[in-house]
Amino acid sequence: MRRPRGSWNEPPNPRLPESGEETNGDSGSAVAQLLEEVGTETEPRPVLTVEGLSGRVAVVTGASSGIGRASAVDLARHGVHIAFNYLNKGGERGLAEAVAEELEALGVRTYFRACDVRDPGMVTAFMNEVEEELGGIHILVNNAGIGRDRALWRMSDDEWDEVLRTNLSGAFYCLRAVAPRLRAQEFGKVVNISSVHGRRSEFGIINYSAAKAGIIALTRNAAVELGPSNVNVNAVAPGYIRTTRLTEGVPPEHLDRARERSALGRLGDPQDVAGVVTFLCSEAARHITGAVIPIDGGYLL
Ligand code: NDP
Repeated sequence: MRRPRGSWNEPPNPRLPESGEETNGDSGSAVAQLLEEVGTETEPRPVLTVEGLSGRVAVVTGASSGIGRASAVDLARHGVHIAFNYLNKGGERGLAEAVAEELEALGVRTYFRACDVRDPGMVTAFMNEVEEELGGIHILVNNAGIGRDRALWRMSDDEWDEVLRTNLSGAFYCLRAVAPRLRAQEFGKVVNISSVHGRRSEFGIINYSAAKAGIIALTRNAAVELGPSNVNVNAVAPGYIRTTRLTEGVPPEHLDRARERSALGRLGDPQDVAGVVTFLCSEAARHITGAVIPIDGGYLL
């Protein structure tokens, strides 16, 4: 029988008998030993077999920082070549270059440049370049997103439009641009980054909540339309994740409330999201589509 990959490949524990080996009536003590180990293991490390990723090409939008960066790095650790974009509003090329260096150090190829996901023409051009530079597109992670919080009666047209156009229309433009390729090759994985706020209301984020709820509907519809072409489309719904930009403007008492409200009593890290994104892009998740996976420490329970 083929042995599974991962830490199961470690040499067998010399204290335990191999299967089919003479146990000399010692199996009782082996079981006792096992039970003892299980009993003292306070932080079991999950073993995730992530197959089918090496050599693929992923586009991760908004990967110059935060969740996008962590997702790109995690995919690269599994041998995925990475294309990413960013907005570059504040002249962030330096951040993007640092991410690209991090990715290349993991032995994968990269392509990156500023590209505004609100502009469908730019998005199409970017996807064409990715295909030329990296030889294909198999995975799309729609991550680029912003918040512009304000009470609804004070919210400007721009604040409404900017958030809807970046978080929702941007994801649609990227998905539409890659859909013909994914359909033609009869393979693809799309992960859209929604939010707990696509499901739960809070004061002052009507634009963000509407966009993130829209991402959930976009995910389900795309899953139906692309499923027959063997393309999985899923979403993740992170809770409060410690990234600099989305949380640095959030008052500490608000974060304390979020921490208390979550069953696990903590905020998340970008890596908590990245691991699930990688799983959804892998063949381990081949039968999951149209799903919205909460990554919120139990915030929505
Ligand atoms: P960051 O602000 O750290 O990163 C956002 C990324 O998106 C940056 O790379 C930014 O580029 C890019 N971006 C913004 N606007 C555009 C645009 N118009 N075109 C192209 N790229 C753009 O955010 P987070 O990592 O915190 O958030 C990432 C995603 O996760 C977002 O969709 C967010 O809504 C979602 N999310 C975050 C949560 C959190 O608590 N942090 C919780 C739930 C969901 P540049 O740096 O150049 O501006």
